[in-house]
Amino acid sequence: MKKFIDFRSDTVTRPTKEMEEAMFSARVGDDVFGEDPTVNALETKLAAMFGMEAAMFTPSGVMANQIAIKVHTQPGDEVVCDKLAHIYHYEGGGVAFNSGASVRLLEGDYGRFTAEQVRANINNPDDVHHPLTRLVVVENTCNKGGGSIWDIREIQKIRQVVTEKQLKFHLDGARIFNALAETGEHPADYGALFDSVSICLSKGLGAPVGSVLMGDTDFIYRARRVRKVMGGAMRQIGYLAAAGIYALDNHFDRLKEDHHRAKILARHLEQQPYVEKVIAPQTNIVIFHLSQGLNELDFLNKLKEAGILAVPFGRGVIRMVTHLDISETDLEAALKVLSALK
Ligand SMILES: *Cc1c(COP(=O)(O)O)cnc(C)c1O
Repeated sequence: MKKFIDFRSDTVTRPTKEMEEAMFSARVGDDVFGEDPTVNALETKLAAMFGMEAAMFTPSGVMANQIAIKVHTQPGDEVVCDKLAHIYHYEGGGVAFNSGASVRLLEGDYGRFTAEQVRANINNPDDVHHPLTRLVVVENTCNKGGGSIWDIREIQKIRQVVTEKQLKFHLDGARIFNALAETGEHPADYGALFDSVSICLSKGLGAPVGSVLMGDTDFIYRARRVRKVMGGAMRQIGYLAAAGIYALDNHFDRLKEDHHRAKILARHLEQQPYVEKVIAPQTNIVIFHLSQGLNELDFLNKLKEAGILAVPFGRGVIRMVTHLDISETDLEAALKVLSALK
């Protein structure tokens, strides 16, 4: 089989030898009975890191977000998020499907909106015409925003509005560790601001499966019921939790390497005649626009023939993501291919 350099996503990574060893030697039990010691250790570890009361393992980041939305809302409520939000674009319409809620989209700056925008988009709860605004969701980093990082001071301002208007506040932190690696902020800085936080172990951290949802004890108590209904309560998943613990302990510090490689890749792409514009990457996601008239699928086929994989990200737009399995050598090889592309 031909070996591709795979920039499609930071989810394509395979467990390292050391991670596999941690998985194989995990102590396990039935997590539906709350008896898997490794899952319990992972949940305790993350809750402590973020300074939140409780945590719950989920099979995917989508499920973590969808459970949070379900717990925070009632059918007919409205969820406020950016127009680029993952919960809106990439979760199969789950906000409507699972929670019967509608979505109010804000026009942000690469996925980042302001407290003023939130304030201006909260419906008057005394006017029965409008859905009840219930939940605000922030995505940090923002995937469709090119891995953009939020300014925590704006999130603090949004928190004030959320508190004043008695709303709930959820962080889709699938890639929060990429943000933290760049800003040097602490996970607890984020835990203090949100009612619930989801994180992905299977993105930049390089675990094969898994996400974790955090919140206060009552929130997680209710989240466990929703997870069960969704079929996401699993048994001896300590094997997966062990990969997550290993990833948190060993793969956080190296995220900056991915960010560095993304910057090199972006600078290189800027110089290519077939590229019109590259969104300057702040973390590990490089989004670029092809020159006028070039079709993204044709371009991706050419790229694939040359041994590189990427994904389409809208009309004439391509996304490439750096990760654990893109080495310095892989990057150099990819840059050569990109220069030689006709
Ligand atoms: C990947 C991702 C998720 C979760 O997606 P899964 O495919 O379920 O892991 C959620 N939010 C964002 C911003 C993501 O990038």
